[in-house]
Amino acid sequence: MPNSRRTPAAGLDPRGPLVLDTRTLPRRPGSARTETRTVPAPADLHTGLAGIPEGSDLRLDITLESVTEGVLATVTAVAPVTGECARCLEPVSQMIEVRCQELFSYEQGAGDADEDGYALDGDLLDLEPMLRDALVLALPLAPLCRQDCPGLCAECGALLAQAGPEHGHESAIDPRWAGLRQRMTHGEQAPGPAPEIREESGRGRP
Ligand SMILES: [Zn+2]
Ligand SMILES: [Zn+2]
Repeated sequence: MPNSRRTPAAGLDPRGPLVLDTRTLPRRPGSARTETRTVPAPADLHTGLAGIPEGSDLRLDITLESVTEGVLATVTAVAPVTGECARCLEPVSQMIEVRCQELFSYEQGAGDADEDGYALDGDLLDLEPMLRDALVLALPLAPLCRQDCPGLCAECGALLAQAGPEHGHESAIDPRWAGLRQRMTHGEQAPGPAPEIREESGRGRP
């Protein structure tokens, strides 16, 4: 599986959807070329609650510019994001748009291996690493199905957006049971012999 990070190791596949051939771009500072292409989104573009589905349409507006040191790539990408609402866990889908720019240097000399930039591989450049970084950073950390999503009822887990504003549990617990309830949630659970629970009402043990 070709896993090209910043340093393309095994050579780029010129047919790769995110690989650009710069041969038609004159190596003369000031020359520029633009193109628009729609490519299938690569895998593994996701964070905890949101991601870009693999294979979905990634729309790219690409500008390549010759500069003295190499080729400056400027990309605007529009991508669909799906995920779960951080409050109510209902499905969320939205579009994100990111703009990123990187310099791809012409072949660098020896000792450039740890250079923290991008480089052309012959006439080819691979947009995937820069796009990957930009897209993952742009993913919402806490996507919301709508800005004012009321979330879930803390008591019963109901969707508050559907349950309505009068949904509540204030009166649901008989005050006589409140103490017992508290003991059961916070008290230590004694295994073995039944815990001694006295019932004030004297209502029956069989
Ligand atoms: Zn929600
Ligand atoms: Zn509830």
